[in-house]
Amino acid sequence: MANHKVPLFSAQDERELRKQLSLLLHSSASNQTQDLINKLLQNYTPDKSKKEPSLTRFRYLSAVLMEQLIILLQEQQDFKLSRWTVFFEVLNYFPFTSKNFMPLNLKDKIYCSASEYSAYQSDIFIPLQLSYLLAQLEDSAIAYSLLKPLADRISFTSPFVHLIYHLALTRILILKGKRLDFTKLWLKLIIEYYKEDGSETALYLIIQWLRMINWGRNASLKKKVLQAYSNDWKYNKSLLSAFILNELVTLENHLLKPEEKIRYIHILLSLPSAFLSFEQLQYLYFFAGNYYSGVEQNFPKSIRAYHHSTYYLQKSWLALQNLSQFLREHLSSEQIVQIMPYLEKKVISLANQINLQNSTYVDTLHKNYLLINELYHQVEALSITDHLTGLKNRHYLHNNLYHTFQLAARHKVPISFAILDIDHFKQINDLYGHLAGDYVLQTLAELLLSYFRKSDVIIRYGGEEFLLVLFDIKKENMLELMEGFRAKIENYEFIYQDNNFHITISIGCLCNCLSCLNDIVLNSYIEKTDKALYAAKEAGRNTIVCFTE
Ligand code: GH3
Ligand code: MG
Ligand code: MG
Repeated sequence: MANHKVPLFSAQDERELRKQLSLLLHSSASNQTQDLINKLLQNYTPDKSKKEPSLTRFRYLSAVLMEQLIILLQEQQDFKLSRWTVFFEVLNYFPFTSKNFMPLNLKDKIYCSASEYSAYQSDIFIPLQLSYLLAQLEDSAIAYSLLKPLADRISFTSPFVHLIYHLALTRILILKGKRLDFTKLWLKLIIEYYKEDGSETALYLIIQWLRMINWGRNASLKKKVLQAYSNDWKYNKSLLSAFILNELVTLENHLLKPEEKIRYIHILLSLPSAFLSFEQLQYLYFFAGNYYSGVEQNFPKSIRAYHHSTYYLQKSWLALQNLSQFLREHLSSEQIVQIMPYLEKKVISLANQINLQNSTYVDTLHKNYLLINELYHQVEALSITDHLTGLKNRHYLHNNLYHTFQLAARHKVPISFAILDIDHFKQINDLYGHLAGDYVLQTLAELLLSYFRKSDVIIRYGGEEFLLVLFDIKKENMLELMEGFRAKIENYEFIYQDNNFHITISIGCLCNCLSCLNDIVLNSYIEKTDKALYAAKEAGRNTIVCFTE
């Protein structure tokens, strides 16, 4: 739908804006700055009957201003790194309470500037933090009542204090719907801070600006602004990179493909964790957990990510407790009652996140279990199967047959054994090659499977030896059955490539055994059957011998 709309700002408008913004950046006197800003905004809020621009127009205006400013700032020949980066770093750790759990080095950082130190000691800092936090909690009334008395004492000499004050004030303006005043103030701040501390600080402020606006249906504008940053941007280990990437990954799903998102998240998670708030880290790890389980099907990796996510969820919870403690200590009971709904909203959203996270985590654990179970069965099947013939192997005999033996014992069913061995098999290999020998073994396996009953157990016991276990069969029937198979093989014509040949087999049998319930008895049966086979070989091969004591 949005595509059919005529853009609110043409390319010419954008060029014109950039020209005026460039003038602004290079204006010298501060009264001149304010005049230029007023003039600039007049041109772009054409509907003079209404005081405020519509929400959509406001979003477009903000986006285009940010975009052009970013381009201008990045083009600055004397691109200057911010001295106040640390301010943006510690912003995530508000409020600074006595029971603070923020990393020690950050605490040092906030006290680093001697000129600011007195502010933290004095009565400015507490109401300032309160106001900032209440503005975050969307209570503009109390926030403003706390902020107003401080106005005279705010100056550039304490840039941290100055910035917190303005972050709170601009947020209040937005909450009150004073879009034009808000835009004027932000532009002025950016210009002033640019002159004080250079291009990078101004770029930080643009991110704050970006965060303050509710983009709603026009979230694609936000992406456009971020792309202005990232056009030439090489993500490095800087806080600014972290801020830009974080804004990118929190874009709505339809604006960013999961693969792109996980790529940004990987960069973000390689940066120092102090660059991001607990809630941001929790979100990043949660998305990563979902991605690893849903797309990559890598469950162990996803579980690790969920663990991290849970850790930061707990930290967010603690931060919220800290915040409410701080508010309780410093606000009157009437004020607390007033902000309660906003605090509750935060509690509910955290609780929802906990529920969501627990259920996805359990879901992934379950999928992981199913995967491992499936692998286990695959490995088990492989370990009991002979690779060449597909028959069961010795493992199967010693590990899987006892259940059947137990059943046979309970029902007093006799068991018979037979070992089949190919006569002069070495000659087949020698005459026709090893592959011909393999072919004979495979064919013999197929013949065994088709000749005997499904309930008979057929095992490839050695190179060219096969062990049969048959249940509930009388001795005379056993001999008859074996004779049938011996004759069948004798008459079977093997054809391998250009060669036709016959083979014979010798068979040793052991009949009417009581069931064997352990390896010792089983081995003694196999030994006796083997002796019978040896006797069959001695008797001239291609014959059957039944074991007798
Ligand atoms: P006999 O009549 O005494 O049983 O003589 P034979 O040659 O069959 O017996 P022997 O045990 O001396 O030789 C068995 C041969 O089977 C030796 C070995 O190379 C061959 N063999 C074992 N496993 C395989 C296999 O997987 N593939 C092939 N092609 N040959 C195998
Ligand atoms: Mg042999
Ligand atoms: Mg042999």
